[in-house]
Amino acid sequence: MACLEEPTLVLNRSWVAVSTTTVREAVSMIYRGAARAIQPETWQAHNFDSWAELALVEGQPALHTVRLAMRVPEVILLTRHTRMPPRQVPFSRRNLYRRDGYRCQYCGHQQLTQELSIDHVVPRSHGGGTSWENCVLACLACNVCKANRTPAQARMTLLRTPTRPPWSPCLMVQMGRRRASWEKFVSDQYWNAALEEG
Ligand SMILES: [Zn+2]
Repeated sequence: MACLEEPTLVLNRSWVAVSTTTVREAVSMIYRGAARAIQPETWQAHNFDSWAELALVEGQPALHTVRLAMRVPEVILLTRHTRMPPRQVPFSRRNLYRRDGYRCQYCGHQQLTQELSIDHVVPRSHGGGTSWENCVLACLACNVCKANRTPAQARMTLLRTPTRPPWSPCLMVQMGRRRASWEKFVSDQYWNAALEEG
C-alpha cells in the first residue's frame, strides 16, 4: 500500500506541530496508544478502535486490511511526552530555495529555479563558509555583477541577513506532499517562517 509511506503530521501534547512521520508509523503509534488520531473536521482525538469505527469519507484515502477499512490518519496527537524534539532544518539546496522564496536576495526578483544560483555572501576565496548564514539565492545578473567580492566591495545590499530558518515540520515535506488537512494545525508563524523569513 503506497499510502503507508505518505506523511502524517505529528502534534505534541500541546497541539503544536513538531514533526512528520509516515502513515505506517502513525498507525503503529495509534495502535500502541502512543498517539491518537485527530479527525481534522472536528479536532476530535480517537484511539485505535474509535478511529477504525469512523465512517470512511468518500474521496478521502483509506487503509484496507483483510478485516477492516479505515481512514488514513493524516494528523496524530502524541499522548506521552514527546520523543520527537524539534530538529534543525537541514541545510539543503531545496530548503535554501524555500527560505529565500525563489527570490534573488540582491535585486529581489523572483526567478525560476534554473535562473538562480547559490551565492556565497563572503566568497569562499575570502574564507566564507557554506552555511545558512553565508549562502543566499542570486540571479545570474546579480551573480555576474557581484563576482568574487563581498557585498560591500560590490556595493550591493542584501534584502535581509541570511539566517538558519526556524524549525518547521512542513519544510521537511516536499511541497506537493503537504496535506490540506494540516493547514489548521500548523500556525501562520510556521508557514511564514518557512517561506518568508530566514
Ligand atoms: Zn538579482
